[in-house]
Amino acid sequence: MNWKKIALVSSVAVGGGALAFVTGGLAAPFVGSLIGGAMGLSGAAAASAGLAALGGGALAVGGGGMAAGTLVVAGAAAVAAAGGAGKLASMVPVERRCNECDVLIEGRDTACGNCGVKQS
Ligand SMILES: [Zn+2]
Repeated sequence: MNWKKIALVSSVAVGGGALAFVTGGLAAPFVGSLIGGAMGLSGAAAASAGLAALGGGALAVGGGGMAAGTLVVAGAAAVAAAGGAGKLASMVPVERRCNECDVLIEGRDTACGNCGVKQS
């Protein structure tokens, strides 16, 4: 187990997810207006109707309203980005040391440059 790498991957995933949550929230009115547009509305009315639809309906009819719709969009973006960022981070090579002599191993070498011991 490489705890250092696991910590790196999870922190990048969480950071990417948090960033996407914010940008997803900013993009929510745009997503809402697309949905509202499909409902035959335009402009601000389309954005609020679209977001309310995502949020389970308008507040007046017992749904989550625009706030809930914004959370749905932001949450979906965060989940997608956390997955992508985690995958990206897992491909970044992390500093490795020889199991035998503790010398730093360059790049993706499978054997130690110092003592020649193969690394698992
Ligand atoms: Zn070595």
